[in-house]
This record gives sequence, C-alpha cells and structure tokens, in this order.
Amino acid sequence: LSCITARINLYSNLPFTIPSVSGSDSPNILSSLKTLTLDGYFSFDELHHAARDFGNRYQFLPSAILRPKSVSDIATTIKHILQLGPSSKLTIAARGHGHSLQGQAQAHGGVVINMESLQEPKMQVHTGELPYVDVSGGELWINILHESLKYGLAPKSWTDYLHLTVGGTLSNAGISGQAFRHGPQISNVYQLEVVTGKGEVVSCSEKQNADLFHGVLGGLGQFGIIARARIALEPAPKMVKWIRVLYSDFSMFTRDQEYLISAENTFDYIEGFVIINRTGLLNNWRSFFNPQDPLKASQFKSDGRTLFCLEMTKNFNPDETDVMNQEVESLLSQLNYIPSTLFASEVSYVEFLDRVHMSEIKLRSKGLWEVPHPWLNLLIPRSRIHDFAEEVFGKILTDTSNGPVLIYPLHRSKWDSRTSTVIPNEDIFYLVAFLSSAVPSSTGTDGLEHILTQNKRILDFCETARLGIKQYLPHYTTQEEWRAHFGPRWETFVQRKSAYDPLAILAPGQKIFRKAI
Ligand code: FAD
Repeated sequence: LSCITARINLYSNLPFTIPSVSGSDSPNILSSLKTLTLDGYFSFDELHHAARDFGNRYQFLPSAILRPKSVSDIATTIKHILQLGPSSKLTIAARGHGHSLQGQAQAHGGVVINMESLQEPKMQVHTGELPYVDVSGGELWINILHESLKYGLAPKSWTDYLHLTVGGTLSNAGISGQAFRHGPQISNVYQLEVVTGKGEVVSCSEKQNADLFHGVLGGLGQFGIIARARIALEPAPKMVKWIRVLYSDFSMFTRDQEYLISAENTFDYIEGFVIINRTGLLNNWRSFFNPQDPLKASQFKSDGRTLFCLEMTKNFNPDETDVMNQEVESLLSQLNYIPSTLFASEVSYVEFLDRVHMSEIKLRSKGLWEVPHPWLNLLIPRSRIHDFAEEVFGKILTDTSNGPVLIYPLHRSKWDSRTSTVIPNEDIFYLVAFLSSAVPSSTGTDGLEHILTQNKRILDFCETARLGIKQYLPHYTTQEEWRAHFGPRWETFVQRKSAYDPLAILAPGQKIFRKAI
C-alpha cells in the first residue's frame, strides 16, 4: 500500500487555496485537444463559469471546457491526456451543476467536463415490477422527476434541492427526509456506466464489476466519471400532507424523531430543524410552506427560545384523503410536541419536492443566492447527539439567522458499507447541516469570517469531545485529515484509486490525490 500511495502522490499538509499542481500546460499540449475527433467540442474561452461553484469561495480557472455529446468524447479525452504522459499537468474534473461548496468540481489549469451537455441517449423510463429510469450522469434530478411522472413513477430517494445532477449527488450520497426508509440515493441505483481514469468505459452493478460500482458511489469523483445511471423508481403520489410541529425540549424532539423513523406505516419524509433566537418565526422559514391556518401560525412567537421543528409529510392521492388523515392522526397522537404548534398544508408532490427551488427564485431576485456559502454538514452518532446539542445549540450558536440548521436521524442499515461514503459506526446517526449564507464583505456576525470561525469551533468541539462524527460533503486540506475521515476504509479507497485512476487525473478539486508527474 505504501508504494501505491507514493506513486499516486498524496497531498500532504498543504493549504489549498493555491494548489501545488497548477498553471496551464504549454500551448502545444492545449491545442492537441483541438485535434481530437469528438461528437461534442472543447471551448478555450469563457472559462470563468467553470471556476465557480455554489460555495462562492474557491475559484480555479481551467484551461479548457469539454462539452461532450457522447460517452466516447469523455473516454477519448481521458485517453489523450493519459498519452501526453508526464509532460502534461492536465487533470480532469466532471462538473455536474457546480453546486459544490469548496471547488470540488474545478480543475486548476485542467479540463472541466460539462456533464450537462451529455444528453444522449435520451432519458428512458422502464415500467414493470421493478421500474427504473436510465439517465445521463449530467441529468438534473428535477428533469428526472418530470419525465418519470409521465409514467406515474418517481425516484424513491431525493435531496432537498433537485437542481443537482445525478453524477454530482451519487459522488457524495444524496440525503433527504426519505433516506430513513429508502436509504440515500446511492442505495437506489441499479447500474452505472463509468469512464475510468484509464479511459475505459465500464458497465457496473452489484453483480458486474462490483468493486468499481461500489467505489464510484460516494467516491467523490475519484475513480471514474458517471456517464449513465439506472435509478430505481416507485409509484408516485399526486399530493403530500406537509406538517410541522415545534418542541422546546430537545430530548422529546429526538425521541419523537427516532420513534417516527422506526414506526410502522410511518410518514414518507422526516426531517427537522433548529430555531435559535428568532421571532416572527413562520415567515422566515426556509421553504414555501403555507400553513392551512396562517393566522394561528402568524400568532406563534418563539420569543427568543430555542425551538426544534419536526417536519414530515405523508403521500396520498385525492381519493385516499380520509385514510391518509386517519393515519396522520394516529401517528401524531404518539408525539409530544407543543400542542398549539401543529401547522399543516397540502401541496402537490412536485411542489413539495421542488420546494427549495422556490426559495432560490426568491433569493436570486434579491441578489442573495450568489453569496458565499460556508456550509458545514455533519453525521453524528445517536449516542452523542445530546452532547452535541448542549454545546453547539446551547453555547456556540447564538442564533440561526445566517441560514437553516437541519437535524434528522437516519438508519445505518439503509446504507451499503461497500460504497465509498463513510458514516458513523452506530445503528442510528443524525445529519446536522449548517446551511449558512454570508453577507459579502460584512465583518459582523453575518460575515464569512464569523461563520467560518463558528464552524471551526463546532469541529474543534467534536474533535475534543471525541464525538465520532463524520463530515458529509467533506473538505480537508491534509492527507492526515483524509486518512482520518476514511479511517479503516482508507486503504480500500487508495487501492481503488490505484486500480481505476492510477495517474490521479480525476476530480483534483477534492484535494485527496495529486496527479503523478
Ligand atoms: P458538482 O458540484 O458539479 O460536482 C460535485 C463532485 O462530483 C465534484 O467532485 C465533481 O467532479 C464530481 N462529479 C460531478 N459529476 C460527476 C459525474 N458525472 N461523475 C463523477 N463525478 C462527478 N446534498 C444532499 O445530499 N442532500 C441535500 O438535501 C442537498 N441539498 C443541497 C441544496 C443546495 C441548495 C445545494 C447547493 C447543495 C445541496 N446538496 C445536498 C449537496 C449536493 O448534493 C452536492 O453538492 C452535489 O455534489 C451537487 O451536485 P452537482 O451536480 O452540482 O455536483
């Protein structure tokens, strides 16, 4: 293993605002890209778009952007770069929708592959007993939703926001309020077509090339580019009942969340969020949730208390309303929320799933979407969630006005330990997501520096108190940190890198391996 790690040049103790493999190759090497016979094309100007992401903090300019029209365009490009050998520093980053937070889809001086250009063959829904949809790795989840709904079907597991690509979320995990029952999105894929770092196009599944299949899922783009994916579908409901209830007692809140994720015939989606030091509560909530009783909702004041909001939905079709309401009543009767704080709404399935996009439109119109997003996503073992809450919600975080703080439990049994994603080693763990937006150039509590300092305090506490957390959408700057992140799985990760991308050409923006030159 040590010779593998030496060969693929692990990053070591470097800060990554300035990458050590940097700068463009000679004009000859770049113009050699123009000689490739492709269905799509390269562009060498207007590169700035590929040097940005949702995080709005890291900007690394590539030398070229490939807009592939076919899978073979990707394979041809990778093979060509391999043939250039050590004379070239070129690396390759697949870029999905560029909604990474710290430059993960960027390639400094390298080639960015604009995966959304890859649209052939067309998306195809297969009905039957085990329905599925075949899609391009560059397809947006929102498009998959609309296409599969034409057949009365939809994917089972989602992210909160659907304007992300299949390749982008499957390279991480893809988690939302359905993951407690269906597992993350990486647990709902039947098959992939991958272009490896050797330029080979490989079909893989649980049964065929299983090591590559599992490696790529949650693999942070390190082992291959997901060109196609076969995603599991289920019958789609027309409507959802969307409910929010509040707690002031954290133990009651988590007890109820944990009860619900294991209960029979439970809700279809279960999440939650924290509200610290806010008034005028409902108007500021993150999504387009319009309670049926807006008067009651507007009268509720948090009075600066720390509150915990449990959010859940029940799917239904219009002819099942009565049964659905009975089931909801029965589930709610088991819970211990503050009685006057039950807020409910009924919306279409699409409106519910696409809820964050509604907020995006609103934020964009105010110029508040393209600001720095110093997000921090943590997976916390159930046994330590109270220690975490006491310190972080009780002391470190003085308010939640910089953005929502999500918190909800997940079952480890719904995750496949053969994939590359690492999660805490307990049957139940919590996702806690600090989804902060910073006000550009502010030096106050809504500024980037303040939020980054707060994030660091949270991470330092987790480390000192040995909570056994894992970062989701991880970002590290040293080899030791990556090694610690993967723990016992590090050796497998390195071996897979050596097998599928031996020259470390792929996904340099993750800063895990450095191209061998
Ligand atoms: P990109 O940022 O383009 O790429 C991410 C990484 O994957 C890069 O390393 C890139 O090189 C690699 N990559 C991209 N495409 C491919 C491919 N085809 N093959 C191989 N590697 C590839 N995540 C959740 O799990 N749950 C959520 O609820 C959630 N909500 C979000 C809400 C918002 C508003 C945002 C901005 C992000 C959210 N995320 C969530 C995080 C999101 O899933 C990841 O950031 C994801 O990587 C973004 O997808 P993308 O298509 O923009 O990927």
